[in-house]
Amino acid sequence: HATKRKMADHLRRLETMFTLTPQRMRMIVEAFKDALEIGLAKPGQVVPMIPTYVFGWPSGKESGNYLAVDLGGTNLRVCLVTLQGGGKWEITQTKYRLTEEQKHDEGQLLFDFCAECLKTFVESSIESGQIQRGATLPLGFTFSYPCSQDKIDHGVLIRWTKGFGAPNTEGHDVVEMFKRSLEKHSVPAEIVALTCDTTGTLIASHYVNPTTKIACIFGTGCNAAYMERASDIPKISSLGIDPQDEIAINCEWGAFDSFEHEHLPRTKYDTIIDEASNKPGEQAFEKLISGRYLGEILRLIICELIDEGVLFLGQNTYKIEIPYSFDTAFLSLMESDPTDELLMIIGIFSHFFALETTLAERQFFRALAKLVGRRAARLSACGIAAIVSKMNYLEEGCAVGADGSLYNKYPGFADRIHEGLVDIFGEKGRNITTYHAEDGSGIGSAIVAAMTKNRK
Ligand code: ADP
Repeated sequence: HATKRKMADHLRRLETMFTLTPQRMRMIVEAFKDALEIGLAKPGQVVPMIPTYVFGWPSGKESGNYLAVDLGGTNLRVCLVTLQGGGKWEITQTKYRLTEEQKHDEGQLLFDFCAECLKTFVESSIESGQIQRGATLPLGFTFSYPCSQDKIDHGVLIRWTKGFGAPNTEGHDVVEMFKRSLEKHSVPAEIVALTCDTTGTLIASHYVNPTTKIACIFGTGCNAAYMERASDIPKISSLGIDPQDEIAINCEWGAFDSFEHEHLPRTKYDTIIDEASNKPGEQAFEKLISGRYLGEILRLIICELIDEGVLFLGQNTYKIEIPYSFDTAFLSLMESDPTDELLMIIGIFSHFFALETTLAERQFFRALAKLVGRRAARLSACGIAAIVSKMNYLEEGCAVGADGSLYNKYPGFADRIHEGLVDIFGEKGRNITTYHAEDGSGIGSAIVAAMTKNRK
């Protein structure tokens, strides 16, 4: 009983740490909005607000065969997309898992791997008759790490995120590097556009649902994109772009509140994650929200209670003490366990960590998962609200295309975002709805490649 009482005390303490009041959320929204404005005004700001050189929305008539390569945080995906116009398409694709070594090995080797995988894919597509032999296909490259671009087929990596650290890549043009690898392996593909998954998601979602004005990704990392008026991007005013033009902005909002740590409610667990990460200080918003970190936050809370002697006395806890051993998918499973006995949670702890749990502990863990997951969704709502408020979308309302495993698989994540929007805006918050977006890095990247070819 003493243990049960201790857990209840800890839960109350953690509830206070992880709960965001509507008032606190509105303060975050205001600070976030300022950060977006500053990012548009001057280069090199905390939230970089990167112009993507994707001009305006797609017409829906884009057509033809395109290759798409997506270097994600977890997988490499290669696709063949046939755009058929009228908002329709066909897609075939193959996924390859990236190893931790590849993420930290020499940068050029990473692009060599992409080229080799694409080559295998193109050869099998030629054999199946989907691609004509001898044809060189336009390629949309989805590279979802902050790049500075001054045209669509060029991008200098500003810094790695999502646990990547391949040397000799930051500060280099990744299109040039990938081109080199494509030539080396004689792959019949021409890179016409570099995009990030978020911009691709914005374009693909608008292709099928024109009320879409914002796209968000909640996967290994988190990010957002929307369409901005060129006249409202002071930092590119000297480029001679028609002020009436619209340009998609890749916010790279995962960086919000980095270094200063003034606005976001960071707990000691967030600080530990930050300090132990390979990029301390950076991606402050992302570290509270994205799939890469939520499991780790929960694991750190559990480990603290192990150290204090509250949990797992007399059991061997070495497995759960391994950093990043607690996958965010476990939080999803814990929250969605339908059984009274919480059998799923028994399974997770015994199978993956060789730990026996009591029912009271399992209920406690589920409550913790809820705190961590709910805070992530409500902070996400703050970011969405900042864009909505900046662009005056509230009255008219808009759809937000959202993608990534956290959004798609975490039970209640979308509902919690919607609740958050109502907490921020009141009833009008219901005018903003998120939905499962179209495939940005495959379809979106192909549409961007088609838009680029049409514009040339
Ligand atoms: P990426 O962002 O790498 O392109 P995903 O969108 O699949 O790919 O995101 C992967 C992240 O989502 C990982 O951090 C993983 O822990 C997390 N994740 C995977 N499955 C789930 C799930 N069922 N619930 C919550 N998070 C998940």
